[in-house]
Amino acid sequence: MKFFFPDSQDLVDPSFDFETERRAELRVRQRDDLYAHEVFRSRAYDGLLVSKGIVDGYGQVGSRYTIGQKHRLLRNGVKEFLRIDKVPYPLEVMGDCGAFTYVKEKVPPYTADEVINFYSDCRFDYGLSVDHVILSYQPDWDLKGAKPPDEVKDRQALTLSLAEEFWTRCKARKEGFIPIGVAQGWSPKSYAHAVKELQAMGYSYIALGGMVPLKTAEVLASLEKIAEVRKPKTRLHLLGVTRLDHMNAFATLGVASIDGTSPLRQAFKDASDNYYTLSRTYSAIRIPQVEGNAKLQKKISSGVIRQETARKLEKAALSAMAAFNNGKLDIDAAVEALTEYEELCAESTPKEKKASAAKSRQSRADVYREVLSDQPWKKCGCEVCRSIGHHVILFRGAERNRRRGFHNVWVFYRKLRSELGLRLEDAA
Ligand SMILES: [Zn+2]
Repeated sequence: MKFFFPDSQDLVDPSFDFETERRAELRVRQRDDLYAHEVFRSRAYDGLLVSKGIVDGYGQVGSRYTIGQKHRLLRNGVKEFLRIDKVPYPLEVMGDCGAFTYVKEKVPPYTADEVINFYSDCRFDYGLSVDHVILSYQPDWDLKGAKPPDEVKDRQALTLSLAEEFWTRCKARKEGFIPIGVAQGWSPKSYAHAVKELQAMGYSYIALGGMVPLKTAEVLASLEKIAEVRKPKTRLHLLGVTRLDHMNAFATLGVASIDGTSPLRQAFKDASDNYYTLSRTYSAIRIPQVEGNAKLQKKISSGVIRQETARKLEKAALSAMAAFNNGKLDIDAAVEALTEYEELCAESTPKEKKASAAKSRQSRADVYREVLSDQPWKKCGCEVCRSIGHHVILFRGAERNRRRGFHNVWVFYRKLRSELGLRLEDAA
């Protein structure tokens, strides 16, 4: 099973100095910053997924690309643009429309030819047909006499007719990429129906969309129903599903590839599971920047907290972590410095909230004590942990948070391989 990592231009600055928190003066973001595959010497994924919706931006979703970057992507091709041609192992690139960017529209904003032009100009290895996400999963609509609403039926019919047009146009244009048909459904039976139709069109690689919010059991139920119609050579791709439980069952049911950003995003979006290891997850240690923290700034400007006090405690928390990491400070003193800064951040909490704030501070201290006594960053072999040490566990600013996300992706890939009983060297 292959893992594709969705690109949204997440890069890190190699010139960032973690002690002074300064960057090289001559740094040029687009030239000098590094993708995850440039940070790690060994694989963290089998390929990348690039969405037309992310490149172009659509409606409320702004583009992650500048105009210059878009031109470069189309002119030089996606492999040169993402600099994966310089990585010592092969990486593939899958293109899709980014159906979530236009999920609220009545119909997708792209024609089959527009999307094929995008895949063709960028020289993708795989291209997904234009689809329209169905966001209601209702297995009850499979029951006899049930009537799924017209809206979901229309979306599936539209997705299938766009897939048919996509297939016909790809063949007529003799495109070099492998076309992947997208199946949208609202229940096991409806997904199976879509897969059957796509196979009849000629597709032997089919992506299952709209499964992100589904429970694992629901994904399995759909895959089992699909298995009844799936031809032996048909490969499946699960869009946005990175749950590791039942990966073996997924593989047995024909899943050849997956993609997803949650290993990256959990590093800075999750309330507690921020740092992955092979056996468990840990919470990152929060030391917010006084300057970059809106809540703290508000308290400072309204006079609740003095700027110097905030700076002093922030600095003390950072120094405590450094000293602890070097074995020069014990765990109690380190936890105290960390919670003292946290208490300051929570100081103006209204009286009635104080009790619960105190309780959450206590549990935060327990969580920190756990991660500090295990020091998981010292046991990780990835380039991020080896080069920045304890900074990887600090929840603070994009340079640390994104690197922790890269580390998670690297660990996720290893967990996936081991879950499936595959060796890393066999990754192709
Ligand atoms: Zn690591």
